[in-house]
Amino acid sequence: MTLQEGRYQIGGADALEIVERFGAPVYVYDAATMKRQYKRMTSAFSKVKRLRINFACKALTNLNVLRVFRELGSGLDTVSIQEVEMGLLAGFEPHDILFTPNCVSLDEISQAVAKGVRINIDNIEILEQFGDRHPEVPVCIRINPHIMAGGNSKISVGHIDSKFGISIHQVPHVLKVVEAMNLKIEGLHMHTGSDIYDAQVFLRAVEILLSAAADFPDLDYLDFGSGFKVPYKEGGIATDIEDLGEQLGDRFNEFCGEYGRDLELMFEPGKFLVSEAGYFLVKTNVVKTTTASVFAGVDSGLNHLIRPMFYEAYHHITNLSNPGGKTRIYNVVGYICETDTFGINRQLSEVREGDILAMANAGAYSFMMASNYNSRFRPAEVMVIDGEAHLIRRRETMEDLLGTQVDLNVLKESVPA
Ligand SMILES: *Cc1c(COP(=O)(O)O)cnc(C)c1O
Repeated sequence: MTLQEGRYQIGGADALEIVERFGAPVYVYDAATMKRQYKRMTSAFSKVKRLRINFACKALTNLNVLRVFRELGSGLDTVSIQEVEMGLLAGFEPHDILFTPNCVSLDEISQAVAKGVRINIDNIEILEQFGDRHPEVPVCIRINPHIMAGGNSKISVGHIDSKFGISIHQVPHVLKVVEAMNLKIEGLHMHTGSDIYDAQVFLRAVEILLSAAADFPDLDYLDFGSGFKVPYKEGGIATDIEDLGEQLGDRFNEFCGEYGRDLELMFEPGKFLVSEAGYFLVKTNVVKTTTASVFAGVDSGLNHLIRPMFYEAYHHITNLSNPGGKTRIYNVVGYICETDTFGINRQLSEVREGDILAMANAGAYSFMMASNYNSRFRPAEVMVIDGEAHLIRRRETMEDLLGTQVDLNVLKESVPA
C-alpha cells in the first residue's frame, strides 16, 4: 500500500474508491504482489535445475487467484478433494496438483487418484491400504522430521507429538511395506509448520529428509514444504529466502550428484505468496471512550478475520480516511458478541465514525477462515490487476445464509393434512 497525494493505493488502485464501489468490509488482493513473491521464490532457488513451486491454495482459494499462479507456472498443493476440484476448474493440469491430506478417508484419496493428481500419504496404515487398492499408482510419502518450527503451537506440525507425517523413525517400517507391496515411491515430502524464523532450523530438517531419500531409489522429487515467514511489522522478522535459496540450492545440487539424478525440488508456500498481497478494509461504526481506552468498533469481527483471536496474529492497521491526522491510541475491535479484538494499543491517525481502516497481511488464511457466525454475511473479495479493481467474490445475501437450511415449517405446510 502506498500513499500518493493524500490517498492510499493498493496495487495502483485507490483504496477508498474500492470501498465506495464494492462496500465494506471487503478483502482486496494485489495480483502484482503475488507475482513479485512468486518470482522472488524462483529467483532465490535459480541454481536448482528442476524447481517447482506448488501454491498451498488453502491460504487463498479464489479461482481467479489460482489462475494468477497457474499463469506464473506454479503448481498447487491441496489438502481436500474440493481444493483438487477447484484447481482443475482453474485450469491446472492434474499432474501439477499435489494432494497432501491428513486424516482423510481412503475413499477421498481414491477420488483424487481418479482425477489424476499426485498423491502424498502421511500414514503407514493408509499406505498399505493404498497399495492394495492402487498398486500401479506412484505416491509421495510425507515424513515428519521432528524438527520444532512454527511460531504458534496451532501451526507447528513437525514436532514429535504431531499428527502429521510418518515419523522419520518409522522409515525402516515404510521400506518394508514398500518392498513387500512393490510400491513406487516417487517423492518424499516434509512440512514442518508455519513461521520458520531460522534458516538453519530448516536446513536441519532438510538434512534429515535427504538422509531418508538415499534409501528410496525411484524418487522423482523432494518436497520441502513451506513455513516461510513474511514480516508483519515494519522491520519485522521474516525468512531470508534469498539466503535459504543460496544454501539449500547448493546442498540440493550436491545431493542430486550423489543420488545420480536431477530430482525436482518442490516447495509449497501459502503465506509467503499471498499474505502481503491482501488488505482487509473495514468501516468504523463507533468510537467509544471508556475509563481506560478508546475503542474503534468496526463493521466486522472474528467471523471475517479470526487470526488475531485464534493465533494472536498481528495485522498492521492503518486509518485510510485520515492520512496525516493527529495520532491517537486505539483498541480496534469487532462487532461479535464475545471478546473480538483486531489490535490493542494501536497508533492510528485520529479515527472518526465512518473512517475506513485497513488491516495488512490479510491475503493468507483470512477470507478462507471467514464464517457466518452471528449470521453475518461473509465479505466481498476484490483483486487489483494492473491498477484495475475487479470483484472476484460478491458479498453474501440472506439467500446465501438460508440456502442450505431446511425449513420444517415450510415442509409441514406443503404436506397435505
Ligand atoms: C498449510 C500448508 C502449507 C502452507 O503453509 P504456509 O505457512 O502458508 O506457507 C504447505 N504445505 C502443507 C502440507 C500445508 O498443510
